[in-house]
Order: sequence, then C-alpha cells, then structure tokens
Amino acid sequence: MEYNPDNPWYKRLHWQVVIAMILGIGIGLSPGGAAVADNVGWVGGLFMRLLRMIIVPLVIASIISGVASAGSGRTVGRMFGKTLGYYLVSSLLAALTGLLLFNIINPGRGYPVTDTGAEPPDLATPESFVDLLYTIVPDNFIGAASAGDMLMVIFFCIVFGAAVTTLPEGPRTKITDLVGALFQAMMALTTGIIRLLPIGVFGLMVTMVDETGLLAFGNLAKYVAGLTSGLAIHFLITLPLLLYFWARVSPWKHAMNMREPLLVAFSTSSSAATLPVTLKTVQEKVGVSDRVSSFTLPMGATVNMDGTAVMECVGALFIAQALGADIGFATQVVVVLTALLASIGAAAVPSAGLVVIFIILGAIGIGDNPEAMLIVAAMLSIDRPLDMARTAVNVYSDSCAAAVVGRWEGEEGIDAEIRG
Ligand code: ASP
Repeated sequence: MEYNPDNPWYKRLHWQVVIAMILGIGIGLSPGGAAVADNVGWVGGLFMRLLRMIIVPLVIASIISGVASAGSGRTVGRMFGKTLGYYLVSSLLAALTGLLLFNIINPGRGYPVTDTGAEPPDLATPESFVDLLYTIVPDNFIGAASAGDMLMVIFFCIVFGAAVTTLPEGPRTKITDLVGALFQAMMALTTGIIRLLPIGVFGLMVTMVDETGLLAFGNLAKYVAGLTSGLAIHFLITLPLLLYFWARVSPWKHAMNMREPLLVAFSTSSSAATLPVTLKTVQEKVGVSDRVSSFTLPMGATVNMDGTAVMECVGALFIAQALGADIGFATQVVVVLTALLASIGAAAVPSAGLVVIFIILGAIGIGDNPEAMLIVAAMLSIDRPLDMARTAVNVYSDSCAAAVVGRWEGEEGIDAEIRG
C-alpha cells in the first residue's frame, strides 16, 4: 500500500469512511431506516466475517516473519535480547496506561446494550496463574489454530520464530523467505479487505443507528477519550522518559528528527507502509547505525505496537463493561497480558488492531458473544482516525527502540542535533 500524498481527498480511505459513516447515520435515522437496515445490514456482518477470516493466517505469518527476521549469530542474539526487552517493557507500560485510563473513564458503563434486558455475560478468566499458562501453551497447535485459540497460536509462533533463528543459514533463509512471502500475501489480502471498509462501515452504521439510535455514541466518545488520552500519555510522557533514561538522548530532538515518519504513519495507518521512511530517517537524522536500525525497525514494525496495546486494553474492557459484565482484578490482569500478546500478533496494516481484539475477547470468554460483535462493529466504524493516531505511536516506539538499543550497543551521536 503505497503512500501517495498527491491522491485527491476523496480517494483517501479515511475520508471515504467518514462519508460512509455520515450516510449510514443519516439513513439509519431517517423514516425508512429500518427497511434499509433489513436490506443492507448483512453487508456489515459479511465484512466482519472477512475480518475474522484472516486472523489466524495473518497472525501466524506476522509473528513468525517478525521474530525469525532477527537473523542468527551471537551478536544478533545479544541484540535480539535487548530489543525484545525494550519491546516488552514499552508495550506492557502502554497496556497498563490503557488499563489506568479505562478505570478512570469507565467508557462502557450505561452502553445501550445494557438497556435491552440482555443478561450480562460471565467472564471466563483463568482461576490461577497455572490456568493462565494452560490457556497460552497449546498441546496441539493445529487444534488451537482451527479453534481460533489465538493466545496458543501466538505462543507457538513466537517460539517457532525463535527456533528458526538458531538454524544454519540454508534452512533458515528457506523458512524466512517462505514465511516472508506468505506475510506479504496476507498483508495484500488484508489491505484488499480493508479497502472495503467504507461499504462495511455503511452497513454497520445503518444497523447500529436503527437499533440504538445515537445513544451508543456517548459511550463511544468516552472510549475515544480514554484511548486518545492513553496514546497521548504514552507518546508524551512514557516514551520520552524511556528515551531519556535508557538512551540519554533528548526526547525533543528525537521527536523533531522523527517528524516525517510520524506524518507518514498518521496518513497511511500502516507501520509496514511507513517502514522505508522510518529506516531512512532513523539512520540519516536520528543517527543510529545501519546494523542496529535494520535489525530493530523491521522487527518492531510487526512485533512492537505500543499504540495498539493501549487500544486493545481500553477496547476489550470497554466491550466487557458495555455488556454489563463484572470486571474484577483477575480479568484486568488477563486483559493486560493478552493485550500485550495481541499487539505482538497484530500485523502492521490498517485496522489490524481491531481484527485482533477478538483474541482478548476470546481469552475472557466473550469471543462469540453476538452483542460483543455489534460493539466491535460500532468501534470499527469510528476506528480510522484512532488507527492513524495509534500507528504514529507504534512507529515512534520503534524509533525509540532503535535509539535505545543503539546506545546500549555503545553508539555515539544519536539525536545529537535536530536535522532538517
Ligand atoms: N495500523 C496499525 C499499524 O500498522 C496496527 C493497528 O491497527 O493497531 O501499526
């Protein structure tokens, strides 16, 4: 998906989605809204099925190609450890920020679904830490993939990817080339499906507005507020602190040097489409070596998604709360951990974050709840601007990782000045 700033506005997906949304709301509220909803509602449902269809192969290809791309050898192993350490800490902090904002804002409370008299679901959270491990470690990978047990799929793919890095060059490149090609195909397929987003959003909007009027928008606005505040805190406070304390570089200079990739990330909603610009900028303006940046950034683009982690956490808890479920401490812990895994599993293409939210819903026992599907559909229709913002945070965190790992590898001159 190439970024082309010369495209007229009406060819840009986010504007098409806005138009579809306005049309959907307008028609849903009009006197003939119910009839239209009856006739086109299935379009939204079909679109959601397409999204669910791609989860398993997309996550498998995304994780294995991300982890296995690390290469092999002792220096690589050392850098791999440092990079993964940064990614885990930054994504965990992001998910915790999402959790904090959720608890402050409580975006799902009073969602119209709770007025319909539907019974709140019981969340199925593991009873103990060992139980949680049993939901993550599969005894049958194929079985887990066909049942859609995504935590198990993610676990297998991470360890498989790590095992691939230990192979001699011959078999290793065979596997990475194959999985890399599979990943490209899956990204192309996902991008194609996402091109249908305006049609899907129209169908989903008409149905939603026909069923609940504009009531859900109050809660959706709170969800947007929670998510954007979480993204802002991560971007403006957490990542600068990591940069300062771990890399001893000026967060201001780093942000200024990173202007261009941030803008491209914002416009494309895709970390993968932004990667060439991120690589060039981190090498030429931030001043990280080719060795470190070409190791950390491609892996980060697929594996490290802090903005997505914030969204998964706020979003999944929003849905559970909207259904009237009782959200205890154990559920919150499970959501944070699975949000972390889901952000690793999300591919670097538009709306991938919303595709993998089913992973967390599945982990807390509401993956197949029909009301939850409707709420995901509502979130989908307003997701584009949020996706733009979280992609910028994803790309920014990757660039911070490159600066931090560069410093840990003894590199000097990182973000020494603002380069125009
Ligand atoms: N669009 C995001 C990215 O490419 C992933 C997401 O949807 O959260 O980084």
